[in-house]
Amino acid sequence: MFLRENTRPVKVGDLTIGGSNEVLIQSMCTTKTADVEATVAEILRLEEAGCQLVRVTVNNEEAAAAIKEIKKRIHIPLVADIHFNHKLALLAIENGIDKVRINPGNIGRRDKVEAVVRACKEKNIPIRIGVNAGSLENHLLEKYGYPTPEAMVESALFHIGILEELDFHDIIVSLKASDVPMAIEAYSQAAKVIPYPLHLGITEAGTLNAGTIKSSAGIGALLALGIGSTVRISLSADPVEEVKVARELLKTFGLITNAATLVSCPTCGRLDIDLFSIANEVEEYISKLKVPIKVSVLGCAVNGPGEAKEADIGIAGARGEGLLFRYGKMIRKVPEADMVVELKKEIDAIVVAFEAT
Ligand code: SF4
Repeated sequence: MFLRENTRPVKVGDLTIGGSNEVLIQSMCTTKTADVEATVAEILRLEEAGCQLVRVTVNNEEAAAAIKEIKKRIHIPLVADIHFNHKLALLAIENGIDKVRINPGNIGRRDKVEAVVRACKEKNIPIRIGVNAGSLENHLLEKYGYPTPEAMVESALFHIGILEELDFHDIIVSLKASDVPMAIEAYSQAAKVIPYPLHLGITEAGTLNAGTIKSSAGIGALLALGIGSTVRISLSADPVEEVKVARELLKTFGLITNAATLVSCPTCGRLDIDLFSIANEVEEYISKLKVPIKVSVLGCAVNGPGEAKEADIGIAGARGEGLLFRYGKMIRKVPEADMVVELKKEIDAIVVAFEAT
């Protein structure tokens, strides 16, 4: 089994996917790539949210040409999403793309595939093979009748074979399906036979709520098995939401070292404060922090102190006031109106101390 630690490390820009490296978070721009201003603005928002690689569609020459300017103004590796057209792949590579998502078996003539592989080799650019249950090759649909995990893995091996024949090994593979059990099975089977890093995704997962649940179920099951070196959550929503979900998911499995976690109670009849709005405000505040602190927001002084013990900093509501806890010990009482401000000050102090170490 090629679990994430024993996959081949593949360099993408200044990052490495696979091997003993952290699971990386990706997203994809929703803008027209040729619209440099809009694309850069979206990428900068994604970076701030914690996105580590970003993909753009390269569906025409204007999009391929825009890569040069986009690259100058962003700080994370840029991936070109290309279907069939090897000329666009070559243009994207020429303009400084860091990774190409293209299926070599769909490019067509051998000399075209060779040209793309040669250009990638020259610039040390990896290729992601993106198998999708919805667009399997005809010969596989004829063989299997309909998309199956076996057909998806066979498709991946078909494309990998083409690259390996050309002595190209900087490969990353995805096997996406919107059917969660099918995706889990496809990735699980792939991990047994494919030594390259796997990019996890549940495609067309849906809207923010439904898509988050489907993606977390599918990708979470795989992460728990030790499968997957990079993730993309696909949502019909602002891509920043995809990054937030991905970070939360990786935190759940202890696979991210630079993110803050919020613990908040579900509330009950003992609730003494407006916990929902406080929790949302604190969550938003810590979402951009790049330090591994745990913050708790609890509704009452009965269970709050006990439940806050695990947190680095926390607050528990009491009647008209809040009890501030640091590392499980109460440090002071604050009026309810000042609770969030005081909690933020304490969070800032912990962040400063962490960053100084
Ligand atoms: Fe209820 Fe208090 Fe527990 Fe929140 S911390 S769920 S308010 S008992």
